[in-house]
Amino acid sequence: MASFGYNTRCFALWRKAKKMPLKPETIAARGGRQAPSPNRPLSPPIYQTSVYTFESLDEVDLVWEEEKDGFIYGRYGTPNTAMLEDLLAALEGAEAAVVSSSGMGALSALFMTLLSPGDHLIAGRDLYGSSTALLAQEIRRMGVEISFVDATSPEKVFTALTPRTRAVFVEAISNPLLKLVDIHALAATLRELEIALIVDASLASPAVLRPMELGANIVVQSATKMLSGHSDTTAGAVLGPKRIIDRVRDTQLRLGTNLGPFDAWLVTRGVRTLAVRLEKQCESALALARFLESCPRVERVYYPGLPSHPQHDLAVRLFRGRFGALLSFDLEDGEEGVKRFFEKLRLIEFAPSFGDTATTWSYPARTSHRGLSPAGKRALGIGPGLVRLSVGLEALDDLLRDLGRAL
Ligand SMILES: *Cc1c(COP(=O)(O)O)cnc(C)c1O
Repeated sequence: MASFGYNTRCFALWRKAKKMPLKPETIAARGGRQAPSPNRPLSPPIYQTSVYTFESLDEVDLVWEEEKDGFIYGRYGTPNTAMLEDLLAALEGAEAAVVSSSGMGALSALFMTLLSPGDHLIAGRDLYGSSTALLAQEIRRMGVEISFVDATSPEKVFTALTPRTRAVFVEAISNPLLKLVDIHALAATLRELEIALIVDASLASPAVLRPMELGANIVVQSATKMLSGHSDTTAGAVLGPKRIIDRVRDTQLRLGTNLGPFDAWLVTRGVRTLAVRLEKQCESALALARFLESCPRVERVYYPGLPSHPQHDLAVRLFRGRFGALLSFDLEDGEEGVKRFFEKLRLIEFAPSFGDTATTWSYPARTSHRGLSPAGKRALGIGPGLVRLSVGLEALDDLLRDLGRAL
């Protein structure tokens, strides 16, 4: 059988040699590996194997040197990760992609690839908490200088540039206050200086925003969130030019942040419905944001789709009519108000992640930003009454009723 992964040649040859009947233990250990049907299944199978077989030493050389298609060992990549990488690269409009065991795995492999001692990195000031920690506590130890700046202002980013700046790392939509970065403006200047612009677009997903089209060089996704969409796996991806992605893949091979076949399969399945999920989620999020703005107990709503958002015009330009599935709001009475809200909700559950088919809420002061001092939280605008909502696929009326009762 020619197709990769099902080379049972030795076993079949042995069985044909009737003079050498196999013992039951041998059959149990070796049999049942031949795919029974030669036609292609519509849904890709899960290649749950950590290693591949070879028919000759020549084949070993050819596959190892990438002169022949084939797989070697789980950490080097599997058919399921390769299929997912193809899919994600096409979705983002990137030349290539490499997937990782989590968003943090993707970021770790990327920064370790791009940065060397003495390099300077400019990073957004209100990044995802673990990303800030990765940079400040791990990457800095490599001898990389890092400046955290308010990336909502391109001028502040440009002011922080030094002759050693290798890259600028921002989040397209910040968490939890949903501030936007003008990717287009940053990209135009950084391109001239040959400084890489890296955009984490996990909150948006390619259904809402495609940073490559706006000039970003590298995109990072926590596929744990919108891409997989069902809260059943952690995964990440780095997307960009093949020459960079190949290097990230090499780093990952050594770090061991590879994604397992079943998890890759789950993300692939999630991506099938990304567009329809996000269409509905964004529509409901806008309706809920408008409703919350009309609630007397809500002091302020943060959603790029509302004209009251300070960067609404930029959102219209970047997102082409959809504004994401996440919104945040300040409840009056701070933490006491949040506790009452928690007790009164019936449908919407507390879960410190986002992107599920179920609408969930989170409390940044005690989850994503709990490591910050009260002053640190204040500096970022994360008050004691701040609630974040990830809008799912329920009927809008049911969500409005639950929020209405809790408020
Ligand atoms: C969740 C998240 C990450 C980290 O991804 P994991 O899959 O949890 O490792 C990075 N960036 C953003 C914006 C995220 O929301």
